[in-house]
Amino acid sequence: MLRNDQLESWDRENFFHPSTHLAQFARGELPQRVVTGGSGVFIEDRDGNKLMDAFAGLYCVNVGYGRTEIADAIAAQAKELAYYHSYVGHGTEASITLAKMILDRAPANMSKVYFGLGGSDANETNIKLVWYMNNILGRPEKKKIISRWRGYHGSGLMTGSLTGLELFHKKFDLPLTQVIHTEAPYYFRRPDAAMTEAEFTAHCAAELEKLIEAEGADTIAAFIGEPVLGTGGIVPPPAGYWEAIQKVLKKHDILLIADEVVTGFGRLGTMFGSDHYGIEADIITIAKGLTSAYAPLSGSIVSDKVWKVLEQGTDEFGAIGHGWTYSAHPIGAAAGVANLRLIDSLGLVENAGTVGAYLNRAMKEALGDHAHVGDIRGEGMLCAVEFVEDRDARRFFGAERKVGPQIAAALLKRDVIGRAMPQGDILGFAPPLCLTQDEADRIVAATQEAVSEVLG
Ligand code: PMP
Repeated sequence: MLRNDQLESWDRENFFHPSTHLAQFARGELPQRVVTGGSGVFIEDRDGNKLMDAFAGLYCVNVGYGRTEIADAIAAQAKELAYYHSYVGHGTEASITLAKMILDRAPANMSKVYFGLGGSDANETNIKLVWYMNNILGRPEKKKIISRWRGYHGSGLMTGSLTGLELFHKKFDLPLTQVIHTEAPYYFRRPDAAMTEAEFTAHCAAELEKLIEAEGADTIAAFIGEPVLGTGGIVPPPAGYWEAIQKVLKKHDILLIADEVVTGFGRLGTMFGSDHYGIEADIITIAKGLTSAYAPLSGSIVSDKVWKVLEQGTDEFGAIGHGWTYSAHPIGAAAGVANLRLIDSLGLVENAGTVGAYLNRAMKEALGDHAHVGDIRGEGMLCAVEFVEDRDARRFFGAERKVGPQIAAALLKRDVIGRAMPQGDILGFAPPLCLTQDEADRIVAATQEAVSEVLG
C-alpha cells in the first residue's frame, strides 16, 4: 500500500479534480481526503475517520454504501460479459431487463429508455431528441430551450448552458444562444416579501409566459426543470407551481423535460418526483439513483408522443445518428437491476418519505427559531437550511463571509458531511434513502452544534 505522503503528492501532481479551486488545491490550501470504504450511511478514509455521509456522495448513493448484492451483480456481469455495444439492435439480458423495470415504474405515458452514462450526457441526448423531433415535424425554427435560474442540468456545453448558475457559465462562453432562463421557483427569495405562495406561483407562471411571448412560442421547443431544485439550493417549488407551469407550456405547445436525476427512484418518497407533483413530462432524465452510483449509468425516458416522431424520423431519414460507445453498458445495467430490486425489497421509497419527513421536522424544531436561520425546507429525503444575516429583512450574508462553507466545515468536525450549496449560504442534506431516525437525530444534533459554533 502506498504511504499517505506519497499519495498526497501524486494527487496534487497528477489529478485534475472536477469542481475544485485548482490553484488552492495545488498550493496545498484545500484538504485532501482519500476515501477507502463505506457501509450504510458512513464512509471511511485513510486516516481512519468514519464520517456520516448526509449527502449520499453527490445525492446518488441512495441505497447506502457497501451493498454486496450490487457488487455481486457487477462482478457476475463482468465475468460473464463485461461489454458489448447496444447499436443496431444489440443488447444484453441486463440492459433489456433494466429498461423493462424502469418503464414498469415510470409514469404511464412513458414508452422507451435510452441509456447513457451520467446526467449531463442524458440531458444532451434529450435536447438532441427534441431538436430532431421538431425537424421531423417540419418546424425547424422551434428550437430554443427554457431552463430556470438556479436549475442544474449538467456541465457540458448545452447542459452547462441549461444550468442556471453563474459559476458554470462565467469564462466558458456559456450559455449557448439557444438557451434562455426564467425565474427560479424560490419562494424564500421571492421578489416581494409581501407575496403569498399562491401569488408567487402565479408570478412564476406569468414570467414564463412573458418570456415565451417575447421570444415567440414558435421558436421554443422545450422547458426543462427539476421537480425540486437541487444544486441551486434544494428548493421545493411553491404550491401549485407545476400545475401552473404545465398549463402555460401546453398552451404554447412546448415540450416538458423533467430532470429527475436527483428525484428519480425514491428521493421524494415517491418513485419519481413527477408522481409527487403531478408532472406529465414528455421526457424524463434519470441517473444517480438508477444505480445508486455503483456504476455510471443514466437514461432518457421518452414518452409515446416523442417516440412516435422518432420512429417516423428514422423511416424517413435512416438510423438515428446518436449513440455512445457505452450506452446501456452491461455492468451499469446489471448494477441498475440489482439496485432497483434492493430499493423495492428494503422499502426505501417509503423510508425516504417517512424518515425524510422526520428529518425535516426535527431540523425545524432544532433550528427554526435561530436568529440567523432564514428558511428550513425540504421534501422527502432532501433538506436545506438557509442562513441569513437578518431574518425579518431577509438580508443575506455577503459571499465573502463564506458562512455556508464555514458551517459545513464545522459540521465535518463533528464527523457529518453536509454540502454547502454553491450559491448562497445554504447547507444541504440528501442522505442515503436507508437513513434511520437515530441517524437523522445525529445529523440534526451535529448541525445545531455547528451552527452555534459559527453563528452563536
Ligand atoms: N441533472 C441534475 C438534476 C443533477 O443534479 C445533475 C448532477 N448533480 C446532473 C443533471 C448532471 O449529472 P452528471 O453530473 O452525472 O453529469
